[in-house]
Amino acid sequence: MNVENYGYERKTVQSGILHIGVGNFHRAHQAFYNNQLLADKDQCKWGICGVCLLPSDEKVVNNLRAQNLDYTLTVCGRNGEDQIYQIGAIQELFWAVENPQAVLDKIAESAIKIITLTITEGGYNLDKITNKFILEDEKIQQDLKNPGHPTTVFGFIAQGLRQRRDLGNGSITILSCDNLQHNGNTAKNAFTTFIAAQDKDLAEWVEANVTFPNSMVDRITPATTPEDVQRLNKRSGIADLAPVYCEDFTQWVIEDNFIAGRPAWERVGVAFTNDVTAFENMKLSLLNASHLLLSYPSFLKGYRKVDDAMQDEDIVKYVRDFMNIDITPHVPAPEGQDLAEYKRTLIERFANRSVSDQISRLCFDGISKFPVYVMPNLVKMIQDSQNPVRVAFMIAAYRYYLKYQIDDQGLPYQIAEPWLSPEDKSLIASNEPTDFLGLSAFKSTNLKAAAHFVELYTQFVSDIKSKGVETVLKAIVR
Ligand code: NAD
Repeated sequence: MNVENYGYERKTVQSGILHIGVGNFHRAHQAFYNNQLLADKDQCKWGICGVCLLPSDEKVVNNLRAQNLDYTLTVCGRNGEDQIYQIGAIQELFWAVENPQAVLDKIAESAIKIITLTITEGGYNLDKITNKFILEDEKIQQDLKNPGHPTTVFGFIAQGLRQRRDLGNGSITILSCDNLQHNGNTAKNAFTTFIAAQDKDLAEWVEANVTFPNSMVDRITPATTPEDVQRLNKRSGIADLAPVYCEDFTQWVIEDNFIAGRPAWERVGVAFTNDVTAFENMKLSLLNASHLLLSYPSFLKGYRKVDDAMQDEDIVKYVRDFMNIDITPHVPAPEGQDLAEYKRTLIERFANRSVSDQISRLCFDGISKFPVYVMPNLVKMIQDSQNPVRVAFMIAAYRYYLKYQIDDQGLPYQIAEPWLSPEDKSLIASNEPTDFLGLSAFKSTNLKAAAHFVELYTQFVSDIKSKGVETVLKAIVR
């Protein structure tokens, strides 16, 4: 298949953005936009310096370095037609485990004007009840006491900014591209709390010299499995060690609050606005919440791919009813956005055969996702006496998924929940179903006090165990 090469020479590009978390999403979304933009000669200072902080990033770092940081991105069309791009927007790549000082020096460099982040929802170290930064965390305490030897994203950014200030290298923007409510405000809260606890002078400098725009990001990007690598390379004809694939839909809405300048991203389809709240509410409440809603029941039914689950009429009706009946009353349409069309497109996007997203990816880290995607609207539903039948079922399915780790077909599986606390683990192990409602993920409200919700949920817990997810779901969608 034809591969679209990038329209610029790498050697003419300079890094103006430092990105932390060079995962699949960054490489399919932000790097894609920058790749298009760098074709404009006047934008050549907006290349990306990638930074990985975790030991588990070793493989992607080695693979990208082995191919000059180039990789292919396959954009999978809903019409079955794919397009393959060669992406060269990442100019440099640092792995903090190997060379922490290089990361700090780069944050301090005057040419870097923006730090972007995709460090996952759980990466912001926030309390799930208060949304406050958890200063008591062991790794945070270690970083607070050892500014020169950071290991967390907070320690690295604090020390890098300290060096930057001392060198007089000027202000900088920190742009979160994670799926969080008010991700800019949330990032500001997390970083400034850490920095204020470590160094009051630096905190003052940050207040005057760092901005944190809110942003809404959207493009479904599955994890690339070894089988995907073979499949993608066969189509592209390129022996790529780190290919990425994603859907054809893409959206990026950003608050225009860049203290040290920004790329002309509007030239490549990014929307700038003074308030992204309505966009992020729409996306988190409809797309991300529906993803979570379908993930646990579908997985337990035996599906492993989202597009397969979306061939199941019961799952589709369950998602549609959730969007139309449960969520739409709480989602004002953003300016210029047709909500009915957005919901219709979502069903199409989930069913996209060539994306074939992994349900296990959606199930990953539910403990960090529920507070952001589901709880804000569930609280409103309970307050408004809406019937929470579908959400009660989702939470009963989540309990079953975590507790039994065996699906309706009798197949065992492993869960991936990096942020479960010891208390969460004991609540999952408990045989009293209502104990599960005290999980840290649900603590923004007292679910146990919502009598109708508890009644539905406990019935679903018992029905899922005795009849299986399929039968229970069928009864719900009827
Ligand atoms: P991924 O697993 O491919 O990459 C995750 C990256 O985050 C890795 O580079 C990892 O090192 C880094 N990371 C994780 N925890 C960290 C921590 N505590 N500190 C520093 N770095 C950390 O996942 P992905 O698909 O790239 O998704 C990452 C995030 O992007 C999501 O959690 C979500 O917030 C956002 N996002 C993803 C999608 C998608 O479809 N994949 C869509 C919209 C938004």
